[in-house]
Amino acid sequence: MAATVVTRFAPSPTGRLHLGHAHSALLGWQAAREAGGRFLLRIEDIDPVRCRPEYTEGILEDLRWLGLDWDGEPRIQSRHLPDYRAVLDRLEGMGLLYPCFCTRADIAREVAAIGHAPHGPDGLLYPGTCRRLSQRERAARIAAGQPYALRLDMAAALARLDGPLFFEEAGRGRLRCDPARFGDVVLARKDIPASYHLCVTHDDALQGVTLVTRAEDLLPATDLHRLLQALLDWPAPRYRHHPLLLGPDGKRLSKRDNAPTLAALREVGQSPEAVRAMALGAATSPAGSPASPGRSPS
Ligand code: GLU
Repeated sequence: MAATVVTRFAPSPTGRLHLGHAHSALLGWQAAREAGGRFLLRIEDIDPVRCRPEYTEGILEDLRWLGLDWDGEPRIQSRHLPDYRAVLDRLEGMGLLYPCFCTRADIAREVAAIGHAPHGPDGLLYPGTCRRLSQRERAARIAAGQPYALRLDMAAALARLDGPLFFEEAGRGRLRCDPARFGDVVLARKDIPASYHLCVTHDDALQGVTLVTRAEDLLPATDLHRLLQALLDWPAPRYRHHPLLLGPDGKRLSKRDNAPTLAALREVGQSPEAVRAMALGAATSPAGSPASPGRSPS
């Protein structure tokens, strides 16, 4: 018997949903429903500054209006911080994390001193300053109450692998990962005892997600997610990174650019059917190939 397909939609409640979100949600929902599988909803709200409960409410309302249903209760990440702490403890126990006390200014200064500024998928690569601190120095700074983030010691993490990592991308086959591009990535922020990469990987494993459908701007992040899965003995889902939905001007739809929200489209009298068609029909990749709403062959 074929394994059950479990997909999810995992928005961050930093605003109302727009057509790009609807596109993502519909692809995940269709993939699950066509396969007789499960579609999960997860609210990625660990950032208390950017996320608001009223946006979470709005997201549920918009999805229901669109005609999407999900299986079980939505998982609200901010209610599960101890789960993420437990993962950090595991990684710490493996000797793969270290506290980083650097401010942005410290990092900028250090990078300027080195004379070049290599970038990874998440921005400027960390120059490793706090990795070189002695245990005594670390303990003293923590005792003095200096705030710190937790970073992954990338070299130590890679040294634990038996060989290169791959993931299965719909329509493209097995893609080879290069997590080293992230450098010593932050897994727990100074202000939040978690991070997007940590929570998303943990929750996909916990919830038994077998097919991650999300926009292609997250394709590079998958290299890091595969690394975390391998380090933590979590299964690797299949991935389907869909092209970003572009506006009439050919630019990516985003909240910043005031993309029309589903709420606004409803307000001007659009029907759920019309908005679904818009969300599924208008997607084009940068190369111009149409995005297919169907499920990729497994
Ligand atoms: N929460 C992320 C976002 O809204 C998406 C995470 C994912 O699908 O992996 O951009």
